[in-house]
Amino acid sequence: PGPQLPHDPTKKTLVILGSGWGATSLLNSLDTIDYNVIVISPKNYFLFTPLLPSVAVGTLSPRSILQPTRYVTRHKKRQVTVIEASATDVDPITKTVTFADTSEIQGLVSTTTIPYDYLIFAVGAEVQTFNIPGVREHACFMKELEDAEKMQRRFLDCLESAAFPGQTVDEIKRLLHMVVVGGGPTGIELSGELHDFLEQDLRSWYPELAEHVRISLVEALPSVLPSFSKQLIDYTESTFKEAKIDILTKTMVKEVRDKSVVLQLPDKSIAEVPCGLVVWAAGNTLRKVTRDLMAKFPDVQTNRRGIAVDECLRMLGSNGTIFALGDCTATSYAPTAQVASQQGAYLARVLAQIAKKDELELRLKELQVSTEPEAKEEREHIEKRLVKLEKLRPFKYSHQGSLAYIGSERAIADLPFFNGNLAMGGVATFLFWRSAYLSTLFSMRNRILVATDWLYVKLFGRDVSHYI
Ligand code: FAD
Ligand code: NAD
Repeated sequence: PGPQLPHDPTKKTLVILGSGWGATSLLNSLDTIDYNVIVISPKNYFLFTPLLPSVAVGTLSPRSILQPTRYVTRHKKRQVTVIEASATDVDPITKTVTFADTSEIQGLVSTTTIPYDYLIFAVGAEVQTFNIPGVREHACFMKELEDAEKMQRRFLDCLESAAFPGQTVDEIKRLLHMVVVGGGPTGIELSGELHDFLEQDLRSWYPELAEHVRISLVEALPSVLPSFSKQLIDYTESTFKEAKIDILTKTMVKEVRDKSVVLQLPDKSIAEVPCGLVVWAAGNTLRKVTRDLMAKFPDVQTNRRGIAVDECLRMLGSNGTIFALGDCTATSYAPTAQVASQQGAYLARVLAQIAKKDELELRLKELQVSTEPEAKEEREHIEKRLVKLEKLRPFKYSHQGSLAYIGSERAIADLPFFNGNLAMGGVATFLFWRSAYLSTLFSMRNRILVATDWLYVKLFGRDVSHYI
């Protein structure tokens, strides 16, 4: 009954959890001839996260930065099964994964369990709230596509409510005060994009309100963008100053309320600041399914940052049957798309080697029972090859540099350059940022959509319809 999973009993089953940077990069490079491949993810698409803040202000339309996972899998040599579901449990003893359809509409069957030979765990991370009161109820996140759409909707709602006849000046100021929490790259890029929306569009559409729009960026640490060089931090801060974006460093958000944020200021005093919108970009934490899996290996999986893996991305304790990559792991690398995608491409090579090894081991078993002299020769040949295939090359990360958009058509770039670092900022870097992201987009279709959106906004401005 129902569609069956592609199954060739001579091949091992590879279950991939996730359709983000790590999983999609793996799928792009994977030779599906080697395995029965099943992809399970609550999103049936890949989201190009670096351009998500541009969607939040309407510079790009949502579909331009999505790529349906089936666009990747349909070009594969063998059929790959894509299942829209969330993994709820992994049992490393029985080597099974349980998943459930968590979408709005469900059929009679909405949860099931399947076996795997190898599991690729690439479920990413979720937003860290530190259990700060009111964050989940009142703030918007900037992680998923729905978050960007929600933020855009609320932002436009704030503008229209501020434009309501008879609104007091204080209330207009509150509604138009946008607070971005977190001075990491997400918070910085979002603040920059909000500023562009204000300067390039809202000044003409809402001339009476534009002067009241205020953007505040709150960061608990002494400086924003700790992963960038000092020179680029200074450049970002001065660009924000010119753009009249307030940066509040050494300031911690203690609570988010319906119409305000409660801040702990550098002198430890507490202030309640009225605002219309709070965007929470305070970093990552592990998903429940990741924590639950780690709890099954209590002796070795003790790192609170994520899954501990060896140099070949094998989850410690799993006996080489679970590989983990990307934001759900605790490695020496930052949780970035760049790392996850290189890990995905690396795993495709590892899995090809493992498939070869598994195939030869199977052949060796067949030959064990034979007494033919040719069989002995072949056995010896296979045994030699197996020794070579046993050893996997460790993952090596090659840092291509860090790039971030800071608004006002300026970007910053920390690039590895002749064994040193080249720090660039400005309009040329902005063009470099655009071309770098355009070329990183996985498909020609997405490149054309994004380039067309940029052109559209240049010609007609951003859309201010409050429709979603
Ligand atoms: P993800 O890409 O998050 O993918 C996780 C996948 O798992 C998703 O498909 C999700 O739907 C799926 N999933 C979730 N739960 C389950 C479950 N229970 N079962 C099965 N599947 C599940 N990095 C950069 O290097 N450069 C940038 O410019 C950059 N910009 C960013 C901008 C924003 C706004 C954000 C939020 C992040 C940005 N990053 C950037 C970081 C980058 O997006 C992450 O490091 C990257 O997505 C990690 O890849 P991943 O595969 O581990 O996780
Ligand atoms: P982050 O962890 O880099 O930054 C979050 C910031 O929020 C931290 O600086 C933290 O001090 C601050 N913070 C936490 N709680 C706070 C509170 N209560 N009050 C005030 N400040 C608080 O998170 P991110 O920016 O979402 O980035 C996540 C990962 O994605 C990083 O590895 C980052 O490099 C990557 N990323 C990269 C790019 C890029 O390269 N352009 C863009 C976005 C994200």
